[in-house]
Amino acid sequence: MINPLSTGGLEELLNLPRLERGWVWLAGAGPGDPGLITVLGAHAIQQADVILYDALIDQALLKLTRPGAELIYAGKRAGVKSCRQSDISRTLVSLAKKDKRVLRLKGGDPFVFGRGAEEALTLARAGVPFRIVPGVTAGIGGLAYAGIPVTHRDTNHAVTFVTGHGVDGQIPDLDWNAVAKGSPTLVLYMARKTVGAIADKLIAAGRDADEPAAIVSDASASTQNVLVTTLGKLGEAAAGTAPSIIVIGENVKLREGLDWIGAMAGKMLEPWPLGREHLSDAS
Ligand code: SAH
Repeated sequence: MINPLSTGGLEELLNLPRLERGWVWLAGAGPGDPGLITVLGAHAIQQADVILYDALIDQALLKLTRPGAELIYAGKRAGVKSCRQSDISRTLVSLAKKDKRVLRLKGGDPFVFGRGAEEALTLARAGVPFRIVPGVTAGIGGLAYAGIPVTHRDTNHAVTFVTGHGVDGQIPDLDWNAVAKGSPTLVLYMARKTVGAIADKLIAAGRDADEPAAIVSDASASTQNVLVTTLGKLGEAAAGTAPSIIVIGENVKLREGLDWIGAMAGKMLEPWPLGREHLSDAS
């Protein structure tokens, strides 16, 4: 089979590091579209003897593996029987000690709400050398596929990433008044079940119930679905099981002008005003 990366000589051109025996690479695969994996991530898949991969990984990526590579499913999905985190970490350590080239492949970015740091800390404690290969996180790249820029200077000068549940499955213990006031745009991970309660807290803290919000499910995958709603209606709108990113803020409106996937299917985009500042930049 043609090796899609080495035909172009990317490995040499970019001076990519080798995955050595006894090492673990913790890599992000991006949110859904397999093309969003980084070159280094793809390079890791091609070299690994064994890959522990997550539920959210597009199976097409696993076709890049070398012949005979071992694939271990280490999925975790809400409501589905999950591998224990300690088992995954222990497996990584024991495979590395067996002198394997080990790849831990996770959805999105391994260090964004993905327990990558916990796994890396276990490796560090066990004296196993590791490399972190960042990935495109769902809360940025996934929103981009929905035509929602995570920032735009007309709408938000800051963004806050929040997880919808803490270790105990409840809303995380945060100062919700501060969260509501501190950032015009909020991006919620793992929040389908708790978003109604979160919205109530944000509204109680002064956020407008009519503020735009969106639920982006299966972001960047062929099954992507985008539901635009308001903060006040998020709770009822968020039913379902597909992995979803929820975004609250004025930047959601920009989708009217930037839904590039819709445009490919013939949708007319709104001519969004660029603003005076932008025009003077361009001159
Ligand atoms: N490390 C991952 C996040 C893992 S937590 C990252 O950086 O993206 C799992 C949560 O991520 C899901 O509950 C969902 O909120 C979000 N998520 C991951 N992939 C997604 C996708 N394709 N579409 C929408 N949300 C996604």
